[in-house]
Amino acid sequence: TLADKGVVAWKYATCGYCSTGCSIEVGLNAQGKPVASRGVADADVNRGKLCLKGLAEHEIFAASGRGTKPLMRGHWHEDWQATDWDAATLKVRDEFRRIQAQYGRDSVAVISTGQLLTEEFYTLGKLTRGLIGTNNYDGNTTLCMASAVSGYKRSFGSDGPPGSYEDFSHTDCLIAWGSNLPEQHPIIYYRLKDAQEQRKFPLIVVDPRVTMLAQMADIHLPLTPGTDVVLQNAMMHVIFKEGLEDKRYIEANCNGLEALKAEVAQWDPAKAAKVCGIDEETIRVVARLFAKAPAAMQIWTMGINQSTHGSDGVVGINNLALITGNMGKPGGTSLSITGQCNAMGTREWSSCSGLPNYRYLEDAQHRKEIGEAWNVDPEFFPKKVGLKQTDIFKVMETGQIKGLWIVATNPMSSLPNTASVRRAMQQLEFCVVQDCYEDTECNQYAHVYLPAGTWAEKDGVMTNTERRINRVTPLAVPPGQAKPDLWIFNKIAEKFNEDGRVNFPEKASDIFLEMARLSQGRFCDISGMTHELLEQRRGVQWPYTAEQAARGELPPVGGKRLYTQDATFRFPDGKAKLIALPFVVNYEVPDEQYPFWLNTGRLVEHWHTRTKTGKVGNNNKFSPIPFVELNPDTAAEMGIRRGEYVRLVSRRSDAVVMAQLTQRVRRNMVFLPFHFHDCANRLTIALLDPYSRQPAFKQGAVRVEKIADQ
Ligand code: SF4
Repeated sequence: TLADKGVVAWKYATCGYCSTGCSIEVGLNAQGKPVASRGVADADVNRGKLCLKGLAEHEIFAASGRGTKPLMRGHWHEDWQATDWDAATLKVRDEFRRIQAQYGRDSVAVISTGQLLTEEFYTLGKLTRGLIGTNNYDGNTTLCMASAVSGYKRSFGSDGPPGSYEDFSHTDCLIAWGSNLPEQHPIIYYRLKDAQEQRKFPLIVVDPRVTMLAQMADIHLPLTPGTDVVLQNAMMHVIFKEGLEDKRYIEANCNGLEALKAEVAQWDPAKAAKVCGIDEETIRVVARLFAKAPAAMQIWTMGINQSTHGSDGVVGINNLALITGNMGKPGGTSLSITGQCNAMGTREWSSCSGLPNYRYLEDAQHRKEIGEAWNVDPEFFPKKVGLKQTDIFKVMETGQIKGLWIVATNPMSSLPNTASVRRAMQQLEFCVVQDCYEDTECNQYAHVYLPAGTWAEKDGVMTNTERRINRVTPLAVPPGQAKPDLWIFNKIAEKFNEDGRVNFPEKASDIFLEMARLSQGRFCDISGMTHELLEQRRGVQWPYTAEQAARGELPPVGGKRLYTQDATFRFPDGKAKLIALPFVVNYEVPDEQYPFWLNTGRLVEHWHTRTKTGKVGNNNKFSPIPFVELNPDTAAEMGIRRGEYVRLVSRRSDAVVMAQLTQRVRRNMVFLPFHFHDCANRLTIALLDPYSRQPAFKQGAVRVEKIADQ
């Protein structure tokens, strides 16, 4: 009980795992130690609820493996030596400068995460673009939401999820593409379930696997992996053929209708059925349900994004929303459910576009605006977008990137084809790892380790899936000499910024005000927000402008939408683009040698590479080891029993895992959680989406081998 735990005070923050953005209170005992977590009842997002991960958030502060002092060594074969912050950060500067002088500016790279706070992203962006001067800086987005970013830009002219959770309460039909909310975003799922119980709208789930959400669906479309675009084209074929499109809306709001119509004319449901594996009558039924609903909504997650057709899949979703006149309607949005707690922060403020608040390195005006704000010569900025995380490692493997700074991420486990990632890491002349844990796989190859604060040992904001900016307040201090990431960025900036030319505020609240000023008049306008307002309101969705604040207009509690029904898209004429999507098979498919589809994904208990959840109580107890889901009929044919270990072999490598027999996967598919080191990503393939550079984690091929004598 709470009394047993001795809670004497509760402190407010936002959960640091997924992008739902649940408001959380952490209970502190008399010694100030975090001992309990609970949901905040008056928060619009979670209404008092937390999932399994959120309920254990307080445990992460004292989890094993926390780094407590900066470490250095000459080579990664050698033992670590403890050092101080000055020596460690000076080493980072000197090594980066040496490498840049010898091999060129872009021979160094920085990769970060969705776990940092937005003020930290902003500061890291200022440091990498404005002082180090490389364009090779990428967040985790490339593994997670880059296809959504790219798809939104291609369709609407800008990134930015257009809807809100409140749209569930207005919709009359919902399609979930490759999204398993009950396990991946449990609290968003509660919002959906509550709304569906009240409104009884049909829930249609598109997913090759019988996920938990698919089990709750009215219609489940178990399509062939990688063929979402074909299904979308066939649905649009039916909608146009039966005259179900919203002609008035298209005329007023969209360009590109004729090319789209010509493409989808080729995809009658009978032809599409042969490719996507969904029978033609079901395609017709779903297309009609969607098009005839007064308001129809679509959500998606990694099933769409993590594909060589990721960006196209997002555009296909947007096409469907546009031709049925759903954009801007309550309950009629296309809403990407983002991944990490602050994946949106990195999209808005740093790595994706190159410069803050959706400004672009390629744009001379944007370079000028930010150069003036930061006191950096606009000519110093790199002039093109740099490499994405997936490409950084490909280039590293060739030896052209020699210095790497890894911040709060773990590519040795999270990237596809980890054998090639290992080869890439071994090419580095210098690697610095900044993380709250010193036992991450990447740290094996580091020359400098910088111990960082975790989640609510830090101060700042995060943006959730529905563009709601939420507060994180410091509840605890980092252990030993560990420091918040913002402090570390400022310390390194101090070394690069010898003449003090560029201003690096120390306090998160001052950085937020600088960001708010830079946002004024822009699409993602946060100029009316302050840390205090965000805390009082349990988060505020952008935009919320200084003018609104000056008028005394309080931000609404929920339900804001980015676009209206009146051509408010971000292209010069205000219209959205309908884009024709030809389909080609550009991914690995099963064959005689590797006859099973390999599908990878998440479990409710774990978070990404388990650096956190692998160490906290029930999360790890409930799901301690990797397993593979195998169809019982397939297993019977191969003589494999439940609980036996099997060997999975792909063209990249192999992995030995325990078999779990379940009808969730079809006979020619296996599903493997990606959280465990040296497991799923030994097998996955590094084929990338051509627009977003996101890997096809969910389309690969393996064979299953029985291991004798168990
Ligand atoms: Fe945290 Fe996401 Fe669970 Fe909410 S749903 S408690 S944000 S992990």
